[in-house]
Amino acid sequence: MTTTADTTDTDKQAFVAKLKSFEGKAAGPAERGPDPVNQAMIRHWIEAIGDDNPVYVDPDAAADSVHGEIVAPPVMLQAWVMRGVRPRPARGASGGNARDELMHLIDDAGFTSVVATNCEQEYQRYVHLGDHLSTTTVIESVSEEKATGLGVGHFVTTRVEYRTDDGELVGTMRFRILKFKPGTGRSAASSDAAEERPPRPRPALTQDNAFWFDGAKEHRLLIQRCAHCGALRHPPGPVCPQCRSYEWDTVESSGRGTVYSYVVNHYPQVPAFDYPLPIGLIELEEGTRLVADLVGVEPDDVSVGMPVEVEWQDHDPDLSLPAFRPA
Ligand code: ZN
Repeated sequence: MTTTADTTDTDKQAFVAKLKSFEGKAAGPAERGPDPVNQAMIRHWIEAIGDDNPVYVDPDAAADSVHGEIVAPPVMLQAWVMRGVRPRPARGASGGNARDELMHLIDDAGFTSVVATNCEQEYQRYVHLGDHLSTTTVIESVSEEKATGLGVGHFVTTRVEYRTDDGELVGTMRFRILKFKPGTGRSAASSDAAEERPPRPRPALTQDNAFWFDGAKEHRLLIQRCAHCGALRHPPGPVCPQCRSYEWDTVESSGRGTVYSYVVNHYPQVPAFDYPLPIGLIELEEGTRLVADLVGVEPDDVSVGMPVEVEWQDHDPDLSLPAFRPA
């Protein structure tokens, strides 16, 4: 027998000690991004994200800003070192990659499924056009065996440092995954369909977004409006990207819009949601977009451009959220 329950504590401890021996090791060779920080990639990024801040693309506005020159959006950090759809062959030393070794070890012990659980980035400074970033990655920690809703498994945390060619640290990223045994999670442990449904995850409330969730409790779909120039924006933020005013109020949306894009989520399955789960990027008739569940439609019948209207869902006394159904 090789199931977890029958593995002796001594075996388990030896396995964990082996995993822990990877802590502090370089995950692999340093990697240099394929291209320096450049205007074209920034432009594609901000168009996809819908960030209109001129400091990323307009040389004159950037020169007048605190940066004095064009800067890249901080959250693009990882984009500068991504390897693309077809990874380039690793340069330098062949084999001997500690991350691959660790993953094989964990896979061979039956923890073959993976889900990303956390990603935290810190920015030391804005990166500028021409900066060429490289990364070094360290395996920061490997956890003992944990029982999670998805299954029993080990959390693996890596820490990536992003540096310019002259070695200046511009940012770091801590990235955590859970490697788990399929079929050992909550759904397998309890085949009782009458199991009480857990509540939806709580939103991360901030001073900037609290008004939106308060509006939702009253079944009012609010859109933030700049009190200076009238531009609408979503998601909520402290500054108008058009005129940089901090003054704002809100308007109430009609709740009508169209499906701008969508996905149908199958995995990972988070308790409190039903799967497959169609999720839409809804373009409201006022012009802003928001992400929301699609209801009253089979996943196969969702289409881009489909007219939809809001339907309020009271998930529990503290949480009401807009969903959208075909109009
Ligand atoms: Zn404004």
